[in-house]
Formats: sequence, C-alpha cells, structure tokens
Amino acid sequence: MTNLDRGYAEALDRADPLAPFRERFYLQPGAIYMDGNSLGLLSRDAEAALLHVLNDWKTLGIGGWMDADPAWFYLGETLGRRLAPLFGAEPEEVVAAGTITVNLHALVATFYEPVGNRRKIIATELDFSSDVYALQAQIRLRGGDPATDLVLVPSRDGRTIAEDDLIAAMTDDVALVVLPSVLYRSGQLLDIERLTNAAHARGIIIGFDCAHSAGSIPHHLSRWGVDFAVWCNYKYLNAGPGSIGGLYVNRKHFDRVPALPGWWGYNKERQFDMSHTFEGAGNAGAWQVSTVTVLSAAPLLGSLALFEEAGIERLRAKSLAATDYLIELLEATGLTAEPYCYGIGTPRNHAARGGHIAVEHAEAPRIARALKARGVVPDYRPPNVVRLAPAPLYTSFCDVWDTVHHLREIVDNGEYRRMDARREVVA
Ligand SMILES: *Cc1c(COP(=O)(O)O)cnc(C)c1O
Repeated sequence: MTNLDRGYAEALDRADPLAPFRERFYLQPGAIYMDGNSLGLLSRDAEAALLHVLNDWKTLGIGGWMDADPAWFYLGETLGRRLAPLFGAEPEEVVAAGTITVNLHALVATFYEPVGNRRKIIATELDFSSDVYALQAQIRLRGGDPATDLVLVPSRDGRTIAEDDLIAAMTDDVALVVLPSVLYRSGQLLDIERLTNAAHARGIIIGFDCAHSAGSIPHHLSRWGVDFAVWCNYKYLNAGPGSIGGLYVNRKHFDRVPALPGWWGYNKERQFDMSHTFEGAGNAGAWQVSTVTVLSAAPLLGSLALFEEAGIERLRAKSLAATDYLIELLEATGLTAEPYCYGIGTPRNHAARGGHIAVEHAEAPRIARALKARGVVPDYRPPNVVRLAPAPLYTSFCDVWDTVHHLREIVDNGEYRRMDARREVVA
C-alpha cells in the first residue's frame, strides 16, 4: 500500500484523535461535505442548545432574560467569554453580536479618524465584496472620496497579497488598515502579527476580518496588539445560517466611544434606566447595537463545546494535515497535469495557509456542479476557483481521498462537460 491508496486514508482516520467528533454532526448519508468554510454543518450539540432556548422561551417567556440558563440578557457577553480563547483575547475584549458587515461598519466608524493628510484606508483588491462596500461608505460618510482614500493593494499573482506590498502601502497618509486574516478565495493566511507591528510602527490603527480564520486557526489578537477584529460564527464555527457574529476590541481602546451606539452596548447594570445619555459598557460589549439575537446565538452555545473539547491547536494540526493530503493527492496522482489541469491556488507554506484549498480550473463552475452531482459539496468562487475545505471536526481523510477520486472521474468520464456552465445564484 502507498500513500495514494484509499487504505492509507483509512489508516489516517483510525489514527485521528479528532475522528469521534464526526458522529456529533448531521452528515447526509453518501454525501461528502467540503463547504464548512462557507456554512458549517449542524452538530447535535448546537441543535440541543437551540431547542433548550426554545424551551426556555416556551416556559419562561420574558423571564428568560434573567432566569434562562445562561441568562439571555448577558448572552452576548457569555458567548464572548467562550469565544475569547479562540482569538487569544481577554474575556472582556470579545462579544458575540451583530454580523460581519454591521460590526465592520460599527468599528470602522469608531476607529477611522481622518485628520489632515492622514485620510487613507488600506485594504486589498482581493477582499470580500461586502467589506469593500463598508469601507467605501465609511469614507463617504467622513466626506472623503473612496476613489482616492481607499487603497486596494494589488495582488501580484491574482491569488495572494504580498505582505511587503501591504507594508509599503502604510505611508504617513494612512489612517487605518483593514485586512482579511485569510483571503476568502485563495485561502492565503496573512501574518497578522507582522502586519500589526508594521502598522503600529507607523502610527496606524489596524483591524482584521477573521471570517475565514475564526474556528480554523489559533489567534493571539491581544498579544499581537491588534486593535479590532470582526468575524461570523456560521463558517468554521458551525452556529448556523445567519447566526450571530463576533467582534474583538483591544482593551487599550475600551475608553473609546462607539460611533454607532445602541442600548445593548450600555453599561449592563444601568441599561434599563433608559437614560438618554449613552454610557458604554467599558469593554467590547459597548460595540453591541441592538438586542442580542437569542435564537441565532443559541446554536453557538452548543457548537463552542466541541471547540472547547477538541482544542483549536489540535483542530489546526488536523486541518493542515488534511489540506496537505489533498494537495499531495492532487499532485501525486497527476491531477495537476493534462488532461485534468487542476491548479492549486493556496500557498503551500503552512504559515500562509488557511483552512481550505482553492482548486483552480478553467471550467470551475462545471467542475463544482459535477462534484455536486456526485454528492460532493464544494463551492465556486469566480472566476476559476472551486473551494474545498476539510473541516477538521467532521471531515475525514477518506472524504479527502474520495473527493480527489471524484475530481479524477468527472474528467475521465467527461461528466463536467455535460453540466451547465452558467453560475448559480448562490455559488
Ligand atoms: C463570509 C464573509 C462575510 C459575510 O458577511 P456578513 O455580514 O456576515 O454577511 C464578510 N466578509 C468576509 C471576508 C467573509 O468571508
């Protein structure tokens, strides 16, 4: 038997200490789910947590705000405390609230302070659309022009962003840097610590969108001195479609006044005084705006238990082993050569790799469709990327092997050529 045989994948699964977590998820029989980077699967734990909250609502009514366990009134803070270790943050520096784009608006509105010539925001040309819309709008709200004040650092290869280019762009007319921790398409992981040090050495505030690193990669946001961060909990953190998001504010900024205040960011002890003078919570909780969305937060209570048991370091180790294995299988079985012509758009270097592999192909939309027809769930990102994420809590090494096998067969049998090449509304 060689590394390329399925028996080797079976042996990897037998030796995997995280393998038992798979049984706690709802996997469809016969399907291989490789899209946990976009929408994580439901676990029995998350389901039970949601049903528990529904039952509390049934029996306690409004009493649930204080008498539910955990009390809904403090749910954002309770979840923040439990999320904090995944981000290397202090409990008070994290709160579960809002959604990525809304949290980004709230934090950029607070931290973007254009003065004199220092008016620019640095981001990248490979950023997620929504983040760019938010940055453009925040510049406009300050009377600026996104055409000149938003600098989207170009990519040299169309896949990745060179950290040297980001640092070179941090000139003395820059007020703020907002970057993804992991680029959503190629899966490149940026060196958050290095970029934070570079920004601070130039007197620039820096925030990160951790959508694709939350629950996938260990962070040390406090030690690295990151000013703020946002993320969602529905990707690797498996809290369900549209679930509550999260934000981090470094403790050195606790005295800042949120630019988009709401009553939920008020000092909890006096929130119900209903005073018309805003008094922030004095921690990351101050950046909450509205009533905590209890039903969309509940699944996260259950989901986090899995992360607490598995440990983010072990999950990261398995994720790297699985993406290494995926790359090795693609290359060693000839799938990166003709007639298959699959490319690998994700950095090989572990320190620059997130949790998914960007498999490139000229016919990527059809490849994604042909995989789905065979029960493999990937996603497609224009123009030519099929993203495959072996989520370490529920994806096995056999799933990786089988996915590569399907990638071979859909070309061997010409299956992908029979697929519709048009893109779907939700890719
Ligand atoms: C998934 C994702 C989003 C989604 O934003 P929402 O406001 O939660 O819908 C935003 N930015 C990045 C980088 C993402 O990956």
